Formats: sequence, structure tokens, C-alpha cells
Amino acid sequence: MNKHSSLRSASDLEAKGLIAPAERIGIEEVARRFSVAITPAMADLIGGPPTEDPLAAQFVPDQRELVFSAEELADPIGDEAFSPVPGIVHRYPDRVLLKPLHVCPVYCRFCFRREMVGPEGENLTNAELETALAYIAGNPAIFEVIVTGGDPFALSPRRIRGIVEALSAVGHVGVIRFHTRVPVVAPERVTTELVESLGSDKAVFVALHTNHVRELTPAAREACTKLVKAGIAMVSQSVLLRGVNDTPEALTALFRALLTLRIKPYYLHHGDLAKGTGHFRTSIAEGQALMRELRGNLTGLGQPTYVLDIPGGHGKVPIGPGYLEKTQEGYVVTDPQGGTHAYRG
Ligand code: SF4
Repeated sequence: MNKHSSLRSASDLEAKGLIAPAERIGIEEVARRFSVAITPAMADLIGGPPTEDPLAAQFVPDQRELVFSAEELADPIGDEAFSPVPGIVHRYPDRVLLKPLHVCPVYCRFCFRREMVGPEGENLTNAELETALAYIAGNPAIFEVIVTGGDPFALSPRRIRGIVEALSAVGHVGVIRFHTRVPVVAPERVTTELVESLGSDKAVFVALHTNHVRELTPAAREACTKLVKAGIAMVSQSVLLRGVNDTPEALTALFRALLTLRIKPYYLHHGDLAKGTGHFRTSIAEGQALMRELRGNLTGLGQPTYVLDIPGGHGKVPIGPGYLEKTQEGYVVTDPQGGTHAYRG
């Protein structure tokens, strides 16, 4: 391991001082079950143990990951059931996921695809990628392609360009969206070559996965700015995580910072029922209370939609707090400060 390489094992973590020697055997057991990787950019930000530091909590393995509850699932969002050909998930008529790889530069401890991602995860072969692209070209209902994985920005710019060019040539595809954590966790990968590989006549979106304002280092901000200046539209996705961002202050700081980078906060995901992630999950009531507080204190542009992926592959739905209650005469509406008002209409 040199200072420029990612941490991938209990001994790497111990050498970097991120776990104590006494924790090593337990962490080795976690690492045998779920992949481990922490990039230098993230390792350098960690300033304490997972129970105290929001960056450590997201990336440093923890023995609580070996505690599984009965409701947790290997495929919590049900990708498998909607996969007509390898690498494609087609859940809604007008959009598909295209998953060319299962590798990520970091392995988040709460990952919803933690049973599928990892360095041993199989990437699509060239023939499988051709088949997946042919599936998209052969389905005129597909308007949007969401390139995900794994992290598609872990691919070489040459391979990204190949995917963008193939999708750009499909007349009925209007939007190409990349889901990535790279601009935050490995900003040095956002090179001019990578940015150029996203060039297309189609609308190209990048959805950035980020959960805490401390992830938005100067290098991460520069990487995002490069993408925005190249005409890429950016939105963000965050996961509501206990001990990471489950306070109004943490969420407000994150969403405001994103807005200043011209990144629209898009989704706040309720924690999925992935195995060994119970210590991260808040209750839905807690999530709704947070969203209610944000509504009164944060500009509307900074409000993401709080969503739940229904287990079993039944899709994603908004689960934010309700502000409208039906009465016999009309409605009672709750304002952002909690006051109630009759509305007849
Ligand atoms: S970057 Fe996304 S897919 Fe990769 S480990 Fe993190 S949550 Fe999972």
C-alpha cells in the first residue's frame, strides 16, 4: 500500500490508523462478507471512529454489519426480477438501468447493492454490452437510460465514450443519466478526457451520490464544476443515514453546498433493507420529521424528494410528510411552521 492507493483490507485500515489492532480480526470477518475500499481522498478526511465521524461511518467496516435482521434482503430493491438481459433492469416502461460494471472506487457500508458490487463482481463482456445496447435500441418506449453499476465513472473514458456514442445514436433515447460517486470519492478521475467522453447531442445528466457536506472538498467541488461547465446537468442523491446526516443541520449544509455548485438535490433515499445495515436506518417517521423541518428552513430549490424503494422491486415512491388532510368541508392544510388552516376548494 502506498499513500496513493485505496485501502482494501483490515491490515490496510490498521496501518492507516483507521481501526485499532484489537479490531482487526473482527474487521477481517466483515471484509470477507462485504467488499472494502476507501480511496485516498476519503481516507484523508476521516477523523475518528465510525460511531463519531460521518466519513468513517460511511466507509470504514464495522462489526455491526454482521448483524442481520429478518426483514433484510440480499436484493432489497428487486433488480433481479426486472432484468430481461444481463446488465439491464427494466422496471418502468420509459427508462432502464444499464449496469456495465459492478466495481466501485469505494464500498459504502450501507450499499443497497452490497451483495452484487465488489472487485470480484462480474463486469459485462463486450458481447453482453452489445446485447444490452441492442435491447435499448429495440424498445422505442425507452426515453431515459440510467448508467449505473457499480460506478460507471470507474470505467475508462474510452469505454464511457463508447456507451455515450451508442446511446446517442438511438433516436428514441432522450436522456442519458450517469449515477456516480467518483467526483466526490476520487475527484482526480474527473479529467478533461472523462468530461469529453460525456459529450452528446442528447441531454446528459450526472447524478452525484453524496451524503455529507465534508465530502465536498475543494477537489470534489472542482470536479463538479468541470462537469457543469461542460454543459452536464447535475442532480444529487443522498441516503438518509443515522450518525451521518440525520439532523436538519447536516442535511441543510449538504443541500445548500450542492446548490452553490449548481447541483439540484434530487432524492433523499430512506435506507434500503440491505443486509447488515440496520445501524444506519432511521424510522420513516424520523425522516418525515426531518423533511418537515427542512420545508420551513431551506429554499425550495434545495428540497429533495424523500423516497422509499419498495422491497421486491415494486418501484420508488415519495414518502415525505403530508400537508393536506381531507375534511367534510374541504381540507386542513399544515403550513411549514406547523400551523393549520382550513382550505375550501
Ligand atoms: S458507490 Fe453506490 S453502488 Fe458503489 S458501494 Fe457506494 S452505494 Fe454501493
